Amino acid sequence: MASGMNSQEARDIAYHLHSYTNAARHLEVGPLVIERGEGPYVFDNGGNRYFEAMAGLWSVGLGFNEQRLVDAATRQMKALPFYHSFSHKSHGPVIDLAEKLISIAPVPMSKIYFTNSGSEANDTVVKLLWYRSNALGQPQRKKIISRLRGYHGVTVASASLTGLPNNHRSFDLPIANVLHTMAPHFGSEGKEGESEEEFATRCAEELEALIQREGPDTIAAFIAEPVMGAGGVIVPPRTYWEKIQAVLKRHDILLVADEVICAFGRTGKMFACETYGIEPDILVMSKQITSSYFPLSAFMINERVFEPIAQESDRIGVLGHGFTASGHPVGAAVALENIAIIEERDLVRNAAETGAYMQDRLNALAGHPLVVEARGIGLIGALELKPGEIPGQRGALMNRIMQDKGVISRNMTDAMAFCPPLIVSRAQIDEMMGVVTESLDILQQQMP
Ligand code: PLP
Repeated sequence: MASGMNSQEARDIAYHLHSYTNAARHLEVGPLVIERGEGPYVFDNGGNRYFEAMAGLWSVGLGFNEQRLVDAATRQMKALPFYHSFSHKSHGPVIDLAEKLISIAPVPMSKIYFTNSGSEANDTVVKLLWYRSNALGQPQRKKIISRLRGYHGVTVASASLTGLPNNHRSFDLPIANVLHTMAPHFGSEGKEGESEEEFATRCAEELEALIQREGPDTIAAFIAEPVMGAGGVIVPPRTYWEKIQAVLKRHDILLVADEVICAFGRTGKMFACETYGIEPDILVMSKQITSSYFPLSAFMINERVFEPIAQESDRIGVLGHGFTASGHPVGAAVALENIAIIEERDLVRNAAETGAYMQDRLNALAGHPLVVEARGIGLIGALELKPGEIPGQRGALMNRIMQDKGVISRNMTDAMAFCPPLIVSRAQIDEMMGVVTESLDILQQQMP
Protein backbone atom coordinates (compact mmCIF):
# COMPACT_ATOMS: atom_id res chain seq x y z
CA MET A 1 0.00 0.00 0.00
CA ALA A 2 1.43 3.36 -1.01
CA SER A 3 1.68 5.94 1.78
CA GLY A 4 1.60 9.73 1.95
CA MET A 5 -1.03 12.43 1.79
CA ASN A 6 -1.49 12.09 -1.97
CA SER A 7 -1.59 8.33 -2.22
CA GLN A 8 -4.71 6.80 -3.72
CA GLU A 9 -5.45 5.28 -0.33
CA ALA A 10 -5.28 8.64 1.46
CA ARG A 11 -7.46 10.32 -1.16
CA ASP A 12 -9.99 7.47 -1.04
CA ILE A 13 -10.23 7.90 2.73
CA ALA A 14 -10.57 11.66 2.33
CA TYR A 15 -13.21 11.77 -0.40
CA HIS A 16 -15.03 8.48 -0.92
CA LEU A 17 -18.03 7.15 1.03
CA HIS A 18 -18.13 3.42 0.25
CA SER A 19 -21.03 1.04 -0.28
CA TYR A 20 -21.41 -1.84 2.19
CA THR A 21 -18.48 -0.63 4.29
CA ASN A 22 -18.18 0.53 7.88
CA ALA A 23 -17.67 4.23 7.09
CA ALA A 24 -15.95 5.09 10.37
CA ARG A 25 -13.60 2.12 10.23
CA HIS A 26 -12.72 2.90 6.63
CA LEU A 27 -11.04 6.10 7.88
CA GLU A 28 -8.53 3.84 9.63
CA VAL A 29 -8.16 0.84 7.35
CA GLY A 30 -8.52 2.46 3.93
CA PRO A 31 -9.19 0.70 0.64
CA LEU A 32 -7.68 -2.11 -1.36
CA VAL A 33 -7.13 -0.33 -4.66
CA ILE A 34 -7.58 -2.61 -7.66
CA GLU A 35 -5.86 -1.50 -10.83
CA ARG A 36 -6.34 -4.10 -13.54
CA GLY A 37 -7.63 -7.57 -14.29
CA GLU A 38 -6.70 -10.66 -16.23
CA GLY A 39 -9.13 -13.57 -16.60
CA PRO A 40 -10.37 -14.45 -13.10
CA TYR A 41 -7.58 -12.44 -11.46
CA VAL A 42 -7.29 -8.80 -10.41
CA PHE A 43 -4.17 -6.87 -9.42
CA ASP A 44 -3.86 -4.15 -6.80
CA ASN A 45 -1.82 -0.96 -7.11
CA GLY A 46 1.12 -2.69 -5.44
CA GLY A 47 1.16 -5.36 -8.17
CA ASN A 48 -0.30 -8.12 -5.94
CA ARG A 49 -2.48 -10.66 -7.73
CA TYR A 50 -5.82 -11.95 -6.36
CA PHE A 51 -8.08 -14.71 -7.58
CA GLU A 52 -11.53 -13.12 -7.70
CA ALA A 53 -13.57 -15.90 -6.09
CA MET A 54 -16.67 -13.64 -6.18
CA ALA A 55 -16.39 -12.61 -9.85
CA GLY A 56 -16.47 -9.04 -8.48
CA LEU A 57 -20.02 -8.95 -7.12
CA TRP A 58 -21.26 -12.31 -8.49
CA SER A 59 -21.10 -10.67 -11.86
CA VAL A 60 -17.99 -10.71 -14.04
CA GLY A 61 -18.80 -13.90 -15.94
CA LEU A 62 -16.19 -13.48 -18.67
CA GLY A 63 -13.35 -12.42 -16.41
CA PHE A 64 -11.64 -9.06 -16.15
CA ASN A 65 -10.09 -8.45 -19.57
CA GLU A 66 -12.41 -9.68 -22.32
CA GLN A 67 -11.30 -7.67 -25.34
CA ARG A 68 -14.43 -8.47 -27.35
CA LEU A 69 -16.58 -6.66 -24.78
CA VAL A 70 -14.28 -3.65 -24.92
CA ASP A 71 -14.47 -3.70 -28.75
CA ALA A 72 -18.28 -4.01 -28.72
CA ALA A 73 -18.52 -1.02 -26.38
CA THR A 74 -16.06 1.00 -28.47
CA ARG A 75 -17.88 0.27 -31.74
CA GLN A 76 -21.20 1.31 -30.22
CA MET A 77 -19.71 4.43 -28.60
CA LYS A 78 -18.54 5.50 -32.05
CA ALA A 79 -21.78 4.63 -33.83
CA LEU A 80 -24.33 5.97 -31.33
CA PRO A 81 -23.11 6.65 -27.79
CA PHE A 82 -26.56 7.34 -26.39
CA TYR A 83 -30.15 7.24 -27.24
CA HIS A 84 -33.23 6.68 -25.13
CA SER A 85 -36.46 4.74 -25.28
CA PHE A 86 -38.99 7.39 -24.25
CA SER A 87 -41.80 8.56 -26.61
CA HIS A 88 -41.62 5.62 -29.05
CA LYS A 89 -37.85 6.04 -29.70
CA SER A 90 -35.61 3.02 -30.13
CA HIS A 91 -32.27 1.88 -31.61
CA GLY A 92 -30.72 -1.25 -33.07
CA PRO A 93 -28.85 -2.68 -30.05
CA VAL A 94 -31.84 -2.51 -27.71
CA ILE A 95 -34.14 -4.10 -30.30
CA ASP A 96 -31.62 -6.90 -30.93
CA LEU A 97 -31.11 -7.49 -27.21
CA ALA A 98 -34.84 -7.55 -26.42
CA GLU A 99 -35.37 -10.09 -29.22
CA LYS A 100 -32.41 -12.19 -28.06
CA LEU A 101 -33.58 -12.29 -24.43
CA ILE A 102 -37.10 -13.30 -25.44
CA SER A 103 -35.63 -16.04 -27.64
CA ILE A 104 -33.63 -17.60 -24.77
CA ALA A 105 -36.30 -17.08 -22.07
CA PRO A 106 -36.92 -20.24 -20.03
CA VAL A 107 -40.70 -19.86 -20.43
CA PRO A 108 -42.73 -17.95 -23.03
CA MET A 109 -42.29 -14.24 -22.37
CA SER A 110 -43.74 -11.19 -24.08
CA LYS A 111 -41.67 -8.02 -23.46
CA ILE A 112 -38.39 -6.83 -21.94
CA TYR A 113 -38.11 -3.69 -19.82
CA PHE A 114 -34.62 -2.22 -19.40
CA THR A 115 -33.14 -0.61 -16.28
CA ASN A 116 -29.64 0.05 -14.95
CA SER A 117 -29.24 -2.00 -11.76
CA GLY A 118 -30.85 -4.94 -10.02
CA SER A 119 -32.38 -2.57 -7.46
CA GLU A 120 -33.90 -0.37 -10.15
CA ALA A 121 -35.29 -3.41 -11.93
CA ASN A 122 -36.98 -4.72 -8.78
CA ASP A 123 -38.25 -1.27 -7.84
CA THR A 124 -39.80 -0.98 -11.28
CA VAL A 125 -41.31 -4.46 -10.91
CA VAL A 126 -43.02 -3.34 -7.69
CA LYS A 127 -44.44 -0.26 -9.41
CA LEU A 128 -45.65 -2.21 -12.41
CA LEU A 129 -47.31 -4.81 -10.16
CA TRP A 130 -49.24 -2.03 -8.44
CA TYR A 131 -50.07 -0.44 -11.79
CA ARG A 132 -51.31 -3.80 -13.08
CA SER A 133 -53.53 -4.40 -10.05
CA ASN A 134 -55.11 -0.99 -10.55
CA ALA A 135 -55.54 -1.77 -14.23
CA LEU A 136 -57.37 -4.97 -13.33
CA GLY A 137 -59.70 -3.06 -11.03
CA GLN A 138 -58.17 -4.77 -7.98
CA PRO A 139 -56.72 -1.81 -6.05
CA GLN A 140 -56.53 -3.92 -2.88
CA ARG A 141 -54.03 -6.32 -4.53
CA LYS A 142 -50.82 -4.50 -3.60
CA LYS A 143 -48.91 -6.75 -1.19
CA ILE A 144 -45.73 -8.47 -2.26
CA ILE A 145 -44.27 -11.43 -0.44
CA SER A 146 -40.53 -11.96 -0.34
CA ARG A 147 -38.40 -14.04 2.01
CA LEU A 148 -36.23 -13.52 5.04
CA ARG A 149 -32.58 -13.57 3.92
CA GLY A 150 -33.66 -12.76 0.36
CA TYR A 151 -31.74 -10.00 -1.42
CA HIS A 152 -33.40 -7.79 -4.00
CA GLY A 153 -31.45 -4.55 -3.77
CA VAL A 154 -31.26 -1.29 -1.85
CA THR A 155 -33.64 1.31 -3.30
CA VAL A 156 -36.67 2.11 -1.14
CA ALA A 157 -38.92 -0.62 -2.51
CA SER A 158 -36.25 -3.19 -3.36
CA ALA A 159 -34.53 -2.81 0.05
CA SER A 160 -37.95 -3.43 1.57
CA LEU A 161 -38.17 -6.69 -0.39
CA THR A 162 -34.71 -7.62 0.85
CA GLY A 163 -35.05 -9.71 4.00
CA LEU A 164 -31.82 -8.76 5.77
CA PRO A 165 -31.84 -6.63 8.94
CA ASN A 166 -28.97 -4.33 7.93
CA ASN A 167 -30.89 -3.17 4.86
CA HIS A 168 -33.79 -2.00 7.04
CA ARG A 169 -32.16 -0.88 10.27
CA SER A 170 -32.02 2.94 10.59
CA PHE A 171 -33.41 3.32 7.06
CA ASP A 172 -37.04 3.25 8.28
CA LEU A 173 -37.77 0.24 6.08
CA PRO A 174 -39.57 -1.90 5.03
CA ILE A 175 -42.38 0.11 3.44
CA ALA A 176 -46.01 -0.95 3.75
CA ASN A 177 -47.32 -3.84 1.65
CA VAL A 178 -44.11 -5.89 1.80
CA LEU A 179 -44.30 -9.18 3.72
CA HIS A 180 -41.57 -11.71 4.44
CA THR A 181 -41.92 -15.46 4.71
CA MET A 182 -39.31 -17.92 5.99
CA ALA A 183 -35.91 -18.55 4.41
CA PRO A 184 -35.65 -21.98 2.80
CA HIS A 185 -32.45 -22.93 4.61
CA PHE A 186 -32.74 -26.54 5.70
CA GLY A 187 -29.40 -26.33 7.54
CA SER A 188 -30.55 -23.67 10.02
CA GLU A 189 -34.36 -23.82 9.84
CA GLY A 190 -34.88 -27.59 9.53
CA LYS A 191 -36.22 -29.28 12.67
CA GLU A 192 -34.81 -32.36 14.40
CA GLY A 193 -35.89 -35.47 12.48
CA GLU A 194 -37.42 -33.47 9.61
CA SER A 195 -36.47 -34.58 6.06
CA GLU A 196 -35.53 -32.04 3.39
CA GLU A 197 -38.83 -32.72 1.59
CA GLU A 198 -40.81 -32.27 4.82
CA PHE A 199 -39.01 -29.00 5.41
CA ALA A 200 -39.97 -27.86 1.88
CA THR A 201 -43.58 -28.76 2.67
CA ARG A 202 -43.38 -26.65 5.84
CA CYS A 203 -42.01 -23.68 3.84
CA ALA A 204 -44.99 -23.97 1.46
CA GLU A 205 -47.42 -24.32 4.38
CA GLU A 206 -46.03 -21.20 6.01
CA LEU A 207 -46.48 -19.32 2.73
CA GLU A 208 -50.05 -20.61 2.49
CA ALA A 209 -50.78 -19.52 6.06
CA LEU A 210 -49.38 -16.03 5.41
CA ILE A 211 -51.52 -15.68 2.27
CA GLN A 212 -54.62 -16.81 4.18
CA ARG A 213 -53.92 -14.40 7.06
CA GLU A 214 -53.47 -11.44 4.73
CA GLY A 215 -56.24 -12.38 2.30
CA PRO A 216 -55.29 -14.00 -1.04
CA ASP A 217 -56.87 -11.19 -3.05
CA THR A 218 -54.53 -8.64 -1.42
CA ILE A 219 -51.36 -10.34 -2.68
CA ALA A 220 -49.95 -9.21 -6.04
CA ALA A 221 -46.82 -11.34 -6.24
CA PHE A 222 -44.20 -13.51 -4.62
CA ILE A 223 -40.58 -12.58 -5.40
CA ALA A 224 -37.61 -14.85 -4.82
CA GLU A 225 -34.14 -15.71 -5.99
CA PRO A 226 -34.04 -19.31 -7.29
CA VAL A 227 -30.83 -19.67 -5.25
CA MET A 228 -30.35 -17.01 -2.57
CA GLY A 229 -27.05 -15.21 -2.99
CA ALA A 230 -26.31 -12.38 -0.57
CA GLY A 231 -28.39 -14.07 2.15
CA GLY A 232 -25.63 -16.69 2.35
CA VAL A 233 -25.94 -18.84 -0.81
CA ILE A 234 -29.04 -20.78 0.18
CA VAL A 235 -29.84 -23.62 -2.20
CA PRO A 236 -33.55 -24.52 -2.04
CA PRO A 237 -34.40 -27.85 -0.41
CA ARG A 238 -35.58 -30.65 -2.72
CA THR A 239 -39.21 -30.16 -3.90
CA TYR A 240 -39.28 -26.55 -2.61
CA TRP A 241 -40.03 -24.87 -5.90
CA GLU A 242 -42.79 -27.25 -7.02
CA LYS A 243 -44.54 -26.84 -3.65
CA ILE A 244 -44.19 -23.05 -3.55
CA GLN A 245 -45.46 -22.72 -7.12
CA ALA A 246 -48.49 -24.91 -6.33
CA VAL A 247 -49.47 -22.49 -3.54
CA LEU A 248 -49.06 -19.45 -5.80
CA LYS A 249 -51.04 -21.03 -8.65
CA ARG A 250 -53.86 -21.95 -6.28
CA HIS A 251 -54.27 -18.28 -5.35
CA ASP A 252 -53.47 -16.80 -8.76
CA ILE A 253 -50.46 -14.92 -7.35
CA LEU A 254 -47.74 -13.87 -9.79
CA LEU A 255 -44.23 -15.22 -9.43
CA VAL A 256 -41.19 -12.97 -9.88
CA ALA A 257 -37.88 -14.82 -10.25
CA ASP A 258 -34.99 -12.56 -9.29
CA GLU A 259 -32.19 -14.04 -11.39
CA VAL A 260 -29.86 -11.07 -10.91
CA ILE A 261 -27.14 -13.50 -9.77
CA CYS A 262 -28.32 -16.75 -11.35
CA ALA A 263 -29.07 -15.78 -14.96
CA PHE A 264 -26.61 -16.47 -17.80
CA GLY A 265 -25.25 -19.77 -16.59
CA ARG A 266 -24.40 -19.48 -12.93
CA THR A 267 -26.29 -22.62 -11.81
CA GLY A 268 -25.26 -24.73 -14.82
CA LYS A 269 -28.22 -23.80 -17.04
CA MET A 270 -28.75 -20.50 -18.85
CA PHE A 271 -31.42 -19.59 -16.26
CA ALA A 272 -31.88 -21.05 -12.78
CA CYS A 273 -35.59 -21.28 -13.60
CA GLU A 274 -34.57 -24.16 -15.89
CA THR A 275 -32.47 -25.73 -13.14
CA TYR A 276 -35.42 -25.77 -10.73
CA GLY A 277 -38.47 -26.00 -13.02
CA ILE A 278 -39.62 -22.49 -12.12
CA GLU A 279 -42.22 -20.82 -14.36
CA PRO A 280 -42.09 -17.12 -13.53
CA ASP A 281 -44.38 -14.37 -14.79
CA ILE A 282 -41.53 -11.88 -14.43
CA LEU A 283 -37.81 -12.71 -14.61
CA VAL A 284 -35.23 -10.15 -13.46
CA MET A 285 -31.67 -10.07 -14.84
CA SER A 286 -28.58 -7.94 -14.31
CA LYS A 287 -24.90 -8.40 -13.38
CA GLN A 288 -23.76 -11.20 -15.72
CA ILE A 289 -25.89 -9.79 -18.57
CA THR A 290 -22.88 -7.57 -19.46
CA SER A 291 -20.38 -9.30 -17.15
CA SER A 292 -20.79 -5.98 -15.29
CA TYR A 293 -18.65 -4.17 -17.88
CA PHE A 294 -21.59 -1.77 -18.25
CA PRO A 295 -24.49 -1.08 -15.83
CA LEU A 296 -27.52 -2.77 -17.37
CA SER A 297 -30.45 -4.71 -16.00
CA ALA A 298 -33.67 -5.92 -17.47
CA PHE A 299 -36.75 -7.95 -16.75
CA MET A 300 -39.01 -10.07 -18.88
CA ILE A 301 -42.77 -10.04 -18.47
CA ASN A 302 -45.28 -12.46 -19.89
CA GLU A 303 -48.47 -11.55 -21.71
CA ARG A 304 -50.52 -11.81 -18.49
CA VAL A 305 -48.42 -9.02 -17.02
CA PHE A 306 -48.07 -6.97 -20.18
CA GLU A 307 -51.69 -6.86 -21.31
CA PRO A 308 -53.22 -4.95 -18.34
CA ILE A 309 -50.20 -2.61 -18.21
CA ALA A 310 -50.71 -1.76 -21.88
CA GLN A 311 -54.40 -1.09 -21.27
CA GLU A 312 -53.74 1.12 -18.25
CA SER A 313 -51.11 3.18 -20.10
CA ASP A 314 -53.61 3.60 -22.94
CA ARG A 315 -56.28 4.75 -20.48
CA ILE A 316 -53.88 7.24 -18.86
CA GLY A 317 -52.13 8.17 -22.08
CA VAL A 318 -48.59 7.12 -21.10
CA LEU A 319 -46.67 4.61 -19.00
CA GLY A 320 -45.33 7.24 -16.63
CA HIS A 321 -42.07 5.51 -15.83
CA GLY A 322 -38.58 5.37 -17.38
CA PHE A 323 -34.92 6.04 -16.72
CA THR A 324 -32.74 8.24 -18.90
CA ALA A 325 -30.33 5.36 -19.49
CA SER A 326 -32.95 2.57 -19.83
CA GLY A 327 -31.76 0.31 -22.64
CA HIS A 328 -28.54 2.28 -23.16
CA PRO A 329 -27.11 1.39 -26.58
CA VAL A 330 -23.60 0.74 -25.27
CA GLY A 331 -24.92 -1.52 -22.50
CA ALA A 332 -27.14 -3.35 -24.97
CA ALA A 333 -24.23 -3.86 -27.39
CA VAL A 334 -22.02 -5.18 -24.59
CA ALA A 335 -24.81 -7.51 -23.40
CA LEU A 336 -25.33 -8.94 -26.90
CA GLU A 337 -21.61 -9.64 -27.28
CA ASN A 338 -21.43 -11.05 -23.75
CA ILE A 339 -24.29 -13.48 -24.38
CA ALA A 340 -22.79 -14.43 -27.76
CA ILE A 341 -19.48 -15.29 -26.07
CA ILE A 342 -21.23 -17.31 -23.32
CA GLU A 343 -22.94 -19.33 -26.06
CA GLU A 344 -19.90 -19.70 -28.35
CA ARG A 345 -17.59 -20.85 -25.58
CA ASP A 346 -20.21 -23.10 -23.99
CA LEU A 347 -19.66 -21.41 -20.65
CA VAL A 348 -22.98 -22.65 -19.29
CA ARG A 349 -21.58 -26.16 -19.64
CA ASN A 350 -18.37 -25.04 -17.97
CA ALA A 351 -20.45 -23.70 -15.07
CA ALA A 352 -22.13 -27.11 -14.79
CA GLU A 353 -18.95 -29.19 -15.08
CA THR A 354 -16.32 -27.06 -13.37
CA GLY A 355 -19.09 -26.08 -10.95
CA ALA A 356 -19.70 -29.73 -10.02
CA TYR A 357 -15.97 -30.02 -9.40
CA MET A 358 -16.01 -26.90 -7.18
CA GLN A 359 -18.95 -28.34 -5.21
CA ASP A 360 -17.02 -31.60 -4.68
CA ARG A 361 -14.04 -29.64 -3.38
CA LEU A 362 -16.26 -27.58 -1.06
CA ASN A 363 -18.06 -30.71 0.16
CA ALA A 364 -14.71 -32.30 0.93
CA LEU A 365 -14.21 -29.54 3.53
CA ALA A 366 -17.58 -30.18 5.19
CA GLY A 367 -15.80 -32.42 7.71
CA HIS A 368 -13.35 -29.70 8.76
CA PRO A 369 -13.80 -28.89 12.46
CA LEU A 370 -14.55 -25.24 11.62
CA VAL A 371 -17.12 -25.94 8.89
CA VAL A 372 -20.78 -26.62 9.66
CA GLU A 373 -22.05 -26.85 6.09
CA ALA A 374 -20.90 -26.80 2.47
CA ARG A 375 -23.59 -25.92 -0.05
CA GLY A 376 -24.09 -24.68 -3.58
CA ILE A 377 -24.87 -25.54 -7.18
CA GLY A 378 -22.93 -24.89 -10.38
CA LEU A 379 -20.43 -22.09 -9.88
CA ILE A 380 -21.98 -20.66 -6.72
CA GLY A 381 -21.27 -22.10 -3.31
CA ALA A 382 -20.57 -21.40 0.33
CA LEU A 383 -18.80 -22.80 3.34
CA GLU A 384 -20.63 -21.98 6.55
CA LEU A 385 -18.19 -21.61 9.43
CA LYS A 386 -19.01 -22.61 12.97
CA PRO A 387 -19.98 -19.25 14.50
CA GLY A 388 -17.85 -17.74 17.26
CA GLU A 389 -19.13 -15.63 20.13
CA ILE A 390 -19.78 -12.66 17.86
CA PRO A 391 -21.61 -13.65 14.65
CA GLY A 392 -19.58 -12.74 11.59
CA GLN A 393 -16.28 -12.32 13.43
CA ARG A 394 -14.81 -15.59 12.17
CA GLY A 395 -16.11 -14.96 8.66
CA ALA A 396 -14.43 -11.56 8.57
CA LEU A 397 -11.15 -12.98 9.86
CA MET A 398 -11.27 -15.84 7.33
CA ASN A 399 -11.85 -13.26 4.62
CA ARG A 400 -8.75 -11.31 5.66
CA ILE A 401 -6.60 -14.43 5.83
CA MET A 402 -7.68 -15.48 2.35
CA GLN A 403 -7.15 -12.00 0.94
CA ASP A 404 -3.61 -11.92 2.34
CA LYS A 405 -3.06 -15.21 0.52
CA GLY A 406 -4.42 -13.86 -2.77
CA VAL A 407 -8.08 -14.95 -2.84
CA ILE A 408 -10.94 -12.45 -2.66
CA SER A 409 -14.11 -14.01 -1.23
CA ARG A 410 -16.91 -12.43 0.77
CA ASN A 411 -18.30 -13.41 4.14
CA MET A 412 -22.01 -13.15 4.69
CA THR A 413 -21.88 -13.30 8.48
CA ASP A 414 -20.00 -16.62 8.81
CA ALA A 415 -20.80 -18.04 5.38
CA MET A 416 -17.87 -17.74 2.98
CA ALA A 417 -19.16 -17.30 -0.56
CA PHE A 418 -17.53 -18.61 -3.74
CA CYS A 419 -18.81 -17.47 -7.11
CA PRO A 420 -15.89 -17.38 -9.56
CA PRO A 421 -16.16 -16.16 -13.17
CA LEU A 422 -17.81 -18.59 -15.62
CA ILE A 423 -14.48 -18.96 -17.48
CA VAL A 424 -12.77 -20.56 -14.47
CA SER A 425 -10.75 -23.76 -14.99
CA ARG A 426 -10.34 -26.76 -12.70
CA ALA A 427 -6.72 -25.79 -12.07
CA GLN A 428 -7.89 -22.35 -10.88
CA ILE A 429 -10.51 -23.98 -8.62
CA ASP A 430 -7.70 -26.14 -7.20
CA GLU A 431 -5.62 -23.02 -6.57
CA MET A 432 -8.57 -21.31 -4.85
CA MET A 433 -9.41 -24.36 -2.75
CA GLY A 434 -5.75 -24.72 -1.73
CA VAL A 435 -5.90 -21.22 -0.25
CA VAL A 436 -9.30 -21.91 1.36
CA THR A 437 -7.99 -25.07 3.04
CA GLU A 438 -4.79 -23.40 4.22
CA SER A 439 -6.76 -20.39 5.50
CA LEU A 440 -9.15 -22.60 7.49
CA ASP A 441 -6.17 -24.12 9.27
CA ILE A 442 -4.72 -20.68 10.02
CA LEU A 443 -8.14 -19.53 11.26
CA GLN A 444 -8.25 -22.50 13.61
CA GLN A 445 -4.97 -21.37 15.16
CA GLN A 446 -6.03 -17.72 15.46
CA MET A 447 -9.61 -18.43 16.38
CA PRO A 448 -11.54 -15.75 18.24
N1 PLP B 1 -31.21 -8.94 -6.74
C1 PLP B 1 -30.25 -9.83 -6.43
C2 PLP B 1 -30.59 -11.28 -6.38
C3 PLP B 1 -28.96 -9.39 -6.15
O1 PLP B 1 -28.02 -10.27 -5.81
C4 PLP B 1 -28.66 -8.02 -6.24
C5 PLP B 1 -27.31 -7.53 -5.96
O2 PLP B 1 -26.46 -8.22 -5.46
C6 PLP B 1 -29.69 -7.14 -6.55
C7 PLP B 1 -30.96 -7.63 -6.82
C8 PLP B 1 -29.46 -5.66 -6.60
O3 PLP B 1 -28.68 -5.35 -7.67
P1 PLP B 1 -27.88 -3.94 -7.72
O4 PLP B 1 -26.77 -4.05 -6.73
O5 PLP B 1 -27.40 -3.89 -9.14
O6 PLP B 1 -28.84 -2.88 -7.42
